[in-house]
Amino acid sequence: MEKREQLYEGKAKKVFSTDDADYVIVSYKDDATALDGLKKGIIAGKGAVNNRMSNFLMQLLEKNGVPTHFVKELSDRETVVRKVKIVPLEVIIRNISAGSFAKRFGVEEGIVFAEPTVEFSYKNDELHDPLMNAYHAIALGVATREEIEWIKAMAFKVNEVLKAYFLTLGVRLVDFKLEFGRLPDGTIVLADEISPDTCRFWDAETNEKLDKDRFRRDMGGVEDAYREMMRRVFGE
Ligand code: UDP
Repeated sequence: MEKREQLYEGKAKKVFSTDDADYVIVSYKDDATALDGLKKGIIAGKGAVNNRMSNFLMQLLEKNGVPTHFVKELSDRETVVRKVKIVPLEVIIRNISAGSFAKRFGVEEGIVFAEPTVEFSYKNDELHDPLMNAYHAIALGVATREEIEWIKAMAFKVNEVLKAYFLTLGVRLVDFKLEFGRLPDGTIVLADEISPDTCRFWDAETNEKLDKDRFRRDMGGVEDAYREMMRRVFGE
């Protein structure tokens, strides 16, 4: 597959067209942003960790019946994916209280929920990704009721597969964000990435944070945390 022109540059990835209109190449950067874009920085090696980990997890999910955009890893940083139109919903699943949940409800981090939760936010930088419920999404034509039900069911399935997998690596999957996309025929597949940028990972024994919170909260050891997650997944 031949790489053509850059279509888009986001905060953490670039997207290129290819000689086939149904496929694009994503290229993962080391750039990191947080706090609604206010905080910017570089996490050395992050692009390769996120690309490789996300591809591995997407393949694990495919095997477990979750359709994804993944096609083929080209290199440490570059991957061919099916071209989709992203559904402008960020789907957040939580197993343990942390981050904006802890803040919004005035509780400490680390409360293990009896059942996982789901929430949506409207993917819109200018509006700062406002929280959105299913009725709002339907009213705004973001997705149909059936699509939202399907997305929710898939997101909970992703949670079950990933929670069990990470536990085998001694990692608690605290929460994560998913994005879905539509193929030309309207089929919805899991898209974007699953990585320490988009998940909270805590060491199962020590609760040490092994994700982007180290960057968001200026905790230090950011690169080491990404490297440690790489080591747990790939043994390197
Ligand atoms: N998340 C993300 N992108 C966003 C917002 C959240 O990937 O724009 C992920 C984040 O890494 C965490 C989960 O979604 O794993 C829940 O994030 P939360 O709502 O607690 O927001 P935060 O505290 O990160 O602002």
